Amino acid sequence: MPELEEQKTLESGYVTLEDLRRHGNIPPDEVLESRAVPIFDCIEEIPCTPCRDACPTGAVIMPTMNDKPRVNWEACTGCTLCAQACPGLAITIVNIPFGKRVLKDPTKALVSVPYEILPIPKKGEKVALYDRGHRYLGEGEVFSVIRSYKYGTVLVNVVVPKEIALEVKFVEVVRDE
Ligand code: SF4
Ligand code: SF4
Repeated sequence: MPELEEQKTLESGYVTLEDLRRHGNIPPDEVLESRAVPIFDCIEEIPCTPCRDACPTGAVIMPTMNDKPRVNWEACTGCTLCAQACPGLAITIVNIPFGKRVLKDPTKALVSVPYEILPIPKKGEKVALYDRGHRYLGEGEVFSVIRSYKYGTVLVNVVVPKEIALEVKFVEVVRDE
C-alpha cells in the first residue's frame, strides 16, 4: 500500500468506508445496484486465505497468502461463502436490489452481517445498526439467519434503509427491558 494511503488509514483508528473506496473494495455503482456483493474490510497484508479458499468461482483474487484479498466483481455471484468462512468477521454482504426485487420496497436493502454473540437474533427481531466506528445508524429488522455448519459461523441478514447499506457493519438486538 502506498505510504500516504497507509497513513490515512492509521489516522482514523479503524477502517472507514473511504479507506475501502481507496483500496478498491467498494464495487462500481452499476454492480452494487444489480446484485449482492461482498464488502471486504480487510486491507492489510496478512497470511490468511479462508475467503479465497471458500469462493466457488475464483472471484477472490489473492496470488499469495500474504496478499490482501481483491474481488473480481464480474466473477462474484454474491453467494456469501467468503463471509461465512472469514475468521475475522471482516466481510459483509450488501444486497441493494433485494429491496426492490424481494421486498417490493426500493428504499430498503439487505445486509448480511457476521455475528458471534449469543443469543443469535431471530427473524423479525429489531436490531440496532452501527457503522465501522460503532456509531449508531438506526434500526433494522432481521430477515433471516444463515448458520454455516461447515465454518461454525452465523450471518444475520438484516433489512436496512438502502442509503446506509454500505455503512452497516455491526448489529445488536434491541430488546425491551
Ligand atoms: S460472495 Fe461468493 S462468489 Fe462472491 S467473492 Fe464471496 S465466495 Fe466468491
Ligand atoms: S478470510 Fe477474512 S481476514 Fe482472512 S484474508 Fe479473507 S477477508 Fe481477510
